[in-house]
Amino acid sequence: MKFDLLEPNSVAEACSMLAQHGEETKAIAGGTALLQFLKQGLLHPTHLVNLSRLRELDGIVYDVDKGLRIGALSTHAALESSPLLRRRFLLLAEVAHRVASPRIRNMATLGGSLCHGDPNQDTPAALMALDAQVRLVGPQGERQVALEDFLVDYYETALAEGEILAQVLVPDVSPDTRWCHIKYTPRSTQDFATVGVVVALRMNERRVEGARIVLNAVAHRVMRARRAEALLLGQSPEDDLLAAAGREAATEVEPLSDIRGSAGYKREMVAVFVQRSLRQALGV
Ligand SMILES: Cc1cc2nc3c(=O)[nH]c(=O)nc-3n(C[C@H](O)[C@H](O)[C@H](O)COP(=O)(O)OP(=O)(O)OC[C@H]3O[C@@H](n4cnc5c(N)ncnc54)[C@H](O)[C@@H]3O)c2cc1C
Repeated sequence: MKFDLLEPNSVAEACSMLAQHGEETKAIAGGTALLQFLKQGLLHPTHLVNLSRLRELDGIVYDVDKGLRIGALSTHAALESSPLLRRRFLLLAEVAHRVASPRIRNMATLGGSLCHGDPNQDTPAALMALDAQVRLVGPQGERQVALEDFLVDYYETALAEGEILAQVLVPDVSPDTRWCHIKYTPRSTQDFATVGVVVALRMNERRVEGARIVLNAVAHRVMRARRAEALLLGQSPEDDLLAAAGREAATEVEPLSDIRGSAGYKREMVAVFVQRSLRQALGV
């Protein structure tokens, strides 16, 4: 494996390096995902553009008007231990805490997680449940894209040539949002999920006013179970309804059979875990 390591001094310079060397060039942040692909011979870049020293991509900040803004280089360890996230966005801190092992969480960045586009990952599911957007910077300027549109397919994102994911934007979360994350890892707690579910519910007294049911590891991308969400809206969450939402979600997924289980098994577990996560979020 032979490549040139390029060390940009700014995001603008990194973008122009990526654009200049074309498809044979990859950005590298923590390297946890990219190096696996290089070792397995799945990628053969001629150049790597090292983002890890670009302080412009650092930082976790919040204000009431703009919500939460997380720099792409923030590691999972930084997310799980951030007092700000623990106070206001606990869902995200908890999901980051359940990613792999401390060794990986210390290196793996949020930007890398999203740009890798692996549908098995947990953190994109938490961010999608929070209606996150990503801020992309490239040779043509900046744009903002909903995370749901950014994640396109297996290991494919909406990132254009020369673009860098600079920041993740999360709108303020109502303090009465009820949430739950279930990561089913029967092989080892440090494994990727066999099935992952994040739910976030906004209640108006006894009725569901807003619902996000996001699934990872059961389709070609991290996905919302939109039909299951729609079943809940405006309804009082009785047992039958929660079970129906679970069954509906199971019709929306397209899992693959792999070492973690057959497609049929995963589909059945979606029904079980969506219902369970809704119950846990609601405390019923
Ligand atoms: C052993 C292991 C276990 C894991 N377990 C889990 C798990 O349980 N749950 C989970 O959610 N994830 C898991 N992961 C995945 C992990 O979250 C990702 O590997 C990590 O977040 C990628 O971040 P990175 O900084 O290392 O990215 P890199 O490896 O540096 O890059 C990954 C990809 O993103 C691109 N990239 C990186 N940053 C940017 C940027 N800012 N702009 C544009 N492109 C960029 C790179 O070009 C590359 O294509 C695991 C990974 C490993 C190796």
